[in-house]
Amino acid sequence: MTKPGMVLDTPIVVGTQVTNTCDLQHCKQCYTDCSATPPAEDMTFDEWTNLIDYLAEHGVIHLYFEGGDPLLRPDFLDILRYAQSRFLLWFRTHATTVTPALAQEIAAIGLGRVVVDFFGTSAEMHDYLTGVPGSYEKTMRGAELLREAGVTVIPAAIVNRLNLPHLQRYVELGQRLGAEEVGLLRLYPIGAAKRNWAELAPDPREVTAAIAALDVPEGLRMMNGFHPYDANCCWVNAHITSTGDSIGCPYLRGMVNYGNVRETPFLETWQDPLYRQLRTQEIEDDCPECTTNRMRSPGGCRSSAFTFTGRWDATDPFCPEMGNGVDVTLLPATIPVRR
Ligand code: SF4
Ligand code: SF4
Repeated sequence: MTKPGMVLDTPIVVGTQVTNTCDLQHCKQCYTDCSATPPAEDMTFDEWTNLIDYLAEHGVIHLYFEGGDPLLRPDFLDILRYAQSRFLLWFRTHATTVTPALAQEIAAIGLGRVVVDFFGTSAEMHDYLTGVPGSYEKTMRGAELLREAGVTVIPAAIVNRLNLPHLQRYVELGQRLGAEEVGLLRLYPIGAAKRNWAELAPDPREVTAAIAALDVPEGLRMMNGFHPYDANCCWVNAHITSTGDSIGCPYLRGMVNYGNVRETPFLETWQDPLYRQLRTQEIEDDCPECTTNRMRSPGGCRSSAFTFTGRWDATDPFCPEMGNGVDVTLLPATIPVRR
């Protein structure tokens, strides 16, 4: 059993699903059930700016936005401008709606970075995964416009069985976009990704081997969600959905709900007993290699541990060293829900 660590009073990183709107909507790996138009329940501009004030006053350092696609929200740039001077700020998009003028507007706001999702590294694979012909070309054009405008672009992959044989192309994509970093992110069984798990879920051992075999040029970092960078980052993270639910992490969606920030001050939801438990990082065992590589992150991801074992303090089954032989390419008959 790892020893309990320091428990923060305020998260360092707060992620927000600023809208549930998306122009693609039917991706095989999507974690949300997006809609074409803004749902009436999405938090309003005033609700977001009040929350931003609250987070700034309570010492949150790092704020990021995702969706849906944040750029589909008409007032998103106003929200960014409102937050800009008070946080380390970034957002995640698939960039299909980026125009030269929009790229210039985003650059002028002065963000740390923009993560752009490339679900595949070819039009054929990307468009198969989104279900929308032409979406790869739009994403590539949007990413290039952002880069030309001076925005730091981080291309990101959700690693799955289809794009796994082509990970080296993500390195090349990073070079093409002048990126300092490329994201290789884990697939989680949430939303459509859960429904398509049998087709998409890769063997984490194969992923770890493929990442280790990458030829990465000097100056390019790989943001890697797999061993030995298997973070247990619940202790610093928080996440708020487009309707105000405080859920700790986007990958805990559907498993927990610590309360709604429309009714309860955010930091009161942060005191939920389970939330506090996860933040102690009290895990039954840990992998020294991952713990060394990621400051204070014993035991790997809590979402994966709970999904595949039903226990919050289990080791992460995606870890080849500590996974206790759990086959994560097969979903459990039921995925547990805390409430
Ligand atoms: S994965 Fe992203 S781009 Fe695809 S439908 Fe979901 S929110 Fe939209
Ligand atoms: S659920 Fe996993 S990815 Fe999310 S904050 Fe916890 S450890 Fe990090």
